[in-house]
Amino acid sequence: MPGKVKGLMDRLRDGETVVIAEGYLFVFERRGYLKAGAFVPEVVVEYPHLVRQQYEEFYRAGSDVVLAFTYYAHREKVSLIERESDIEKMNRTALRMAREVADQTGSLMAGNICNSNIYEPNNPDISAKVKDMFKEQIEWAVEEGADFILAETFSDFGEALLALEAVKEYGKGLPVIVNLAWHKNEVNGRPATIDGVEICETFKRLEAAGADVLGLNCARGPATMLPLMEEIQKCIKTPLAAIPVPYRTTKAEPNFQSLTDPLSGVRLFHNDLDAAMCSRSDIKEFGKRCMELGIQVVGICCGNDSHYTRTLCETLGREVPASRYSTDMSKHYLFGTNDKLSKRFISGEGKQYTT
Ligand SMILES: [Zn+2]
Repeated sequence: MPGKVKGLMDRLRDGETVVIAEGYLFVFERRGYLKAGAFVPEVVVEYPHLVRQQYEEFYRAGSDVVLAFTYYAHREKVSLIERESDIEKMNRTALRMAREVADQTGSLMAGNICNSNIYEPNNPDISAKVKDMFKEQIEWAVEEGADFILAETFSDFGEALLALEAVKEYGKGLPVIVNLAWHKNEVNGRPATIDGVEICETFKRLEAAGADVLGLNCARGPATMLPLMEEIQKCIKTPLAAIPVPYRTTKAEPNFQSLTDPLSGVRLFHNDLDAAMCSRSDIKEFGKRCMELGIQVVGICCGNDSHYTRTLCETLGREVPASRYSTDMSKHYLFGTNDKLSKRFISGEGKQYTT
């Protein structure tokens, strides 16, 4: 039943941290159920049981939120692959299953809207079209019982504001998290959105427009997202969200679209991104830093999988259902300490394997 668990804003007011596991598009692309490039969540209508299973798996890994897999289930994307007739089914199926899994597990359920890919600054006709895209997805999320809306991956301030306004208008009072995807753009030496709004200004204006939680998601890995989070923290008072991609982005290549292979110099996006994946220790460091900074909404975006989410949750001091199978090297044949293990490998010839 919606609303029987503690709500998002109550949790944040009580100082709790809320974990949101994301990254469905990449998960299902890797597994062969949707295409990289267009990145439309067709798997929701083709193999819904797999999406439900993924919801359950992220819950086991410690996610507090079942995020309905409606990312890119919007007009622009579905028309790109000529599946407009499936759009409502795609959204409602993703939302309904998310509600069911949330109820079974005592989790929150979030509706999800994102960048339209058609937005243009100062173009009222396009803005009206984009707002309509948001409207229908928000209304479906409300009707299917979402506890809050996650609006994310906006690179333009104008589009983020439009999304926020749409949630305020059609979201029946649901709380809203607004996250931006921050690329490389600068104006007068300061980080700026693609439409040229300086970072502090961006977040102050979104706070003034009524966002409940603000932050960044996608595009950047932990190493290049956290310095921006520190900037944002100085500008606003709302709780913060940080949901990076699990890739080793750098100062020179701050987002995963710009990453190149250290060996060949070739662009990694998308098929070779594995070459720059974060280690679990990187995710641990990210979690620690979020705690130090008091960032209350955390998670991992594209590239995420259950092991990263579990690592993040355990770093926050939690034991989650999947912790039952967290690493125990004391029973490893080369590195272990358990009495039953052969001493031949551990203290003798094992060295030949590891040095
Ligand atoms: Zn992402």
